[in-house]
Amino acid sequence: MKNLWNDGEAAGFKNDLALRAYTSRLLGGEKALVMYGGGNTSVKLQENDETILYVKGSGSDLAHVTEKDFSPVRLAAVRPLIQRDAMSNAEMGVHFRVALTNPQAPRPSIETILHAILPFKWVEHTHADAVLAVANTDHGERHVRAAFGDAVVIVSYRHSGFELAKACHDVFSRETTAKTIGMVLMHHGILAFGSSARESYERMIALVTRAEDYLKSCGAWDIPLRFPSAQAASSQEMLTLAALRRDISHAAGFPLVMTLSSDLMSLAYSRRPDLESLSQRGPATPQHAVFTKRVPMLGRDVAAFTAAYRRYLAENAPQRAERLPDAAPRIVLDPEWGLISAGITASYADAAAEIYRHSMKIQSRAEALEAYASLPPRDVLAAEIEYGGFEQTMRNQYVLAGQVALVDRALNHQAKVAELLAKGAAVIGLDSDPAVKALHTQPEFLGLCGDPDDPAEMEAALEQSVRRFGGIDLLITDNPTLAAACEPLLQLSPVRKPQ
Ligand SMILES: [Zn+2]
Repeated sequence: MKNLWNDGEAAGFKNDLALRAYTSRLLGGEKALVMYGGGNTSVKLQENDETILYVKGSGSDLAHVTEKDFSPVRLAAVRPLIQRDAMSNAEMGVHFRVALTNPQAPRPSIETILHAILPFKWVEHTHADAVLAVANTDHGERHVRAAFGDAVVIVSYRHSGFELAKACHDVFSRETTAKTIGMVLMHHGILAFGSSARESYERMIALVTRAEDYLKSCGAWDIPLRFPSAQAASSQEMLTLAALRRDISHAAGFPLVMTLSSDLMSLAYSRRPDLESLSQRGPATPQHAVFTKRVPMLGRDVAAFTAAYRRYLAENAPQRAERLPDAAPRIVLDPEWGLISAGITASYADAAAEIYRHSMKIQSRAEALEAYASLPPRDVLAAEIEYGGFEQTMRNQYVLAGQVALVDRALNHQAKVAELLAKGAAVIGLDSDPAVKALHTQPEFLGLCGDPDDPAEMEAALEQSVRRFGGIDLLITDNPTLAAACEPLLQLSPVRKPQ
């Protein structure tokens, strides 16, 4: 793991909070450490004779945090909470709000008490791939010990929040020595700590590097792409893909954008002879399941997946759960297509795909090391319930979330394109001028250059559209040839009313 600390850059940050944001961004920029809102960091600062814990607030991403994304809480108000026997997240939330020195600050991280109890000024927490590959094995603790020696203490899996803080407190008070520089959280991630920004950050990098070196020394690092590379999906298969998006959307109860990645690793993983076993054991860390669901769907049978997912809900949901996740898959593995991901927007579909690509590496390496092991389904579902719900929020906010629009002569209809994007749609902008490709840079936009009256060019354009977004729901054109070419896809739209 590359150490990105840069003395020149660091010297530009005039106070500890700015430095805290800087090293947090160094961690967050590396997806093999943490992805999409996972992980958190903190620093303890002296202000007016008291210690203030600045901990990353909920809702921000380490990759982009700035000073204002940290929540200042009085350490003396939150640290004693560890003495309690149990606390719900709601109760913790009340205490955190009272402990904030700035009521306008973001809601403190669910791991605030964990940061508070560690007697170090600087604390980092990530879900590093390499650490998960070592820890998520049948004899995980033995491998963790072999990889890290006495540099870490080991905490068995607990739900994030008070339970985890309590377990960490027990283990830390009992087992820590002068050599302890971090803490491995089984099936979850790792913490590192130190007395300076640099020391704490570099300890995280050093620990992750040790995990990587251990995997290498055990012959479990290189992932052989030993399966034949695939044919690209043919254009005839585009209608099958669009039908799959319709079925997945119907299972979810709302439209989803669906994206196909036929990269070599996804194809190789989808063709593993042990796919049915390996891919169905569960996620590498519970946070991933919020984007990917507990397990991917294999093949194309949505009804079988939803039936199995409903059984998982029935067997594992807590009695008083207010909201359960829908039963539609977010990841599909298909030996011919590779990796398909679904999300409420193209960005979320991309996030699910990226997280799953990291999962494939973690699972492959853990399986090569010994045997990949995940959490009991009940613990995964608890995290899905706890951190889910963002899709509903998006749908409340964006009336066209999950839908795909194709706008013909997009450069002449830029206001329409912008309006559809603002309403949450994924937009394909078609134009004979190649400038359309650069009309918008966000993942929700796909600019395609082509002549609507050229059948070959249109077939290629529609194929790219289906690969990128899964289909078409809305068509904006006055060209009858294009309308006719799009009709079979529009027939498969999940928002089309039955006729
Ligand atoms: Zn975590």
